[in-house]
Amino acid sequence: MVIDLVAAAKERGIKSFLISYTDLFGVQRAKLVPAPAIGKMSRDGAGFAGFATWFDMTPADPDVFAIPDTDSLIQLPWKPEVGWVAADLYMGGKLVEQAPRNLLKKLAAEARGLGYEVKTGVECEFFLVEPDGLTVCDTADRQIKPCYDQSALMRQYDVISEISDCMLSLGWEAYQSDHEDANGQFEMNWGFADALTTADRHSFFKYMVKSIAEKNGLRATFMPKPFLDLTGSGCHAHVSVWDGDTNLFDDAAGELGLSPLAYSFIGGLMHSADALCALFNPTVNSYKRINAPRTTSGATWAPNSVTYTGNNRTHMIRIPEGGRFELRIADGAANPYLLQCGIIAGGMDGIANGRDPGKRLDINMYTEGHTVTGGKKLPLNLLDALRVFEASEVLQQRLGGFVPAYLKLKSEEWNSYARHLTQWERDNTLDC
Ligand SMILES: [Mg+2]
Repeated sequence: MVIDLVAAAKERGIKSFLISYTDLFGVQRAKLVPAPAIGKMSRDGAGFAGFATWFDMTPADPDVFAIPDTDSLIQLPWKPEVGWVAADLYMGGKLVEQAPRNLLKKLAAEARGLGYEVKTGVECEFFLVEPDGLTVCDTADRQIKPCYDQSALMRQYDVISEISDCMLSLGWEAYQSDHEDANGQFEMNWGFADALTTADRHSFFKYMVKSIAEKNGLRATFMPKPFLDLTGSGCHAHVSVWDGDTNLFDDAAGELGLSPLAYSFIGGLMHSADALCALFNPTVNSYKRINAPRTTSGATWAPNSVTYTGNNRTHMIRIPEGGRFELRIADGAANPYLLQCGIIAGGMDGIANGRDPGKRLDINMYTEGHTVTGGKKLPLNLLDALRVFEASEVLQQRLGGFVPAYLKLKSEEWNSYARHLTQWERDNTLDC
């Protein structure tokens, strides 16, 4: 279905369109286009200077044109006169290979060509904090074990219920919201869909949560670890692969209700997991969430090793029931499109090469992880992750021209961090 934006503007009373794209660092960029100009713009695209955003481009490069993918149109529920539309990026008439959404469309289409529709749902955790970002928004939210705290949840009812109503009005099948394991932390769940739809909704969700929090005088952050002693914000993904209406992961006779295809997909993700951290855990701060010491609530709920299990949340991959699995590595900083790209690239490699995930582990990884011998560990910092990512033949081959662009910008980001002089260094080195 291709939506005619000119007609949509008239029918739905849309006065302006946000033509939006997501750069390599997950930042959403947009131009606000008045409805009378949308006809030409939806054909020719909105022009951007790519270098001014997070892309491996130069100031001398020609304009990037963002051509709306009209199927992605979302009318802002809290400001219905504006329509948001995700765009595909072109330069010189060609698709920009490094653009995350372009890459996801390519990978999803390749999988589809082999008869596999990858479907995912994401669980986006976030904190509601004061506008300066230094403290959680609710001074009464102080329980040591704050997960599912009814009172703390209801004190944020105005924000949470508005977001939930928005999701319902958009037909996302929102089904639950709760207070999560850290003070000031929440999670809101909606239905799963094909990987591109989920990525678009994930992007829009982040924008929506931030916008509605702002409207209420608060700030929403998806930062992986904004408070060292509290549980960080993950972005768990639930994954299944379909052929039409048939879930190809579903196998009543299989181990834990999963088919051999599902185990190959899991095997592929485990094979490339350390390298995929460069996409799933893309910031310096991400590595304070995975491999973290225990938080005040008693657990980090984040993985530290490349293992899988049944219904046990201490592992990187959990199989809660037949027909799907949960990937627990990614965090709130993950670029919604690159998260899905990583899942498809890793999983499809597993299917193509029949990767064996080995035997599942049914231990508590937080207390017994040290007993596992020979297992792969997750990278300890962003630089580690980038080096493994660079060395990954699987990802080099599957992600193509995106890889050098991403590595270049992320390495520059690491270097910028490494040049930063910290108080820790002064405390520990001044008297050396
Ligand atoms: Mg959660």
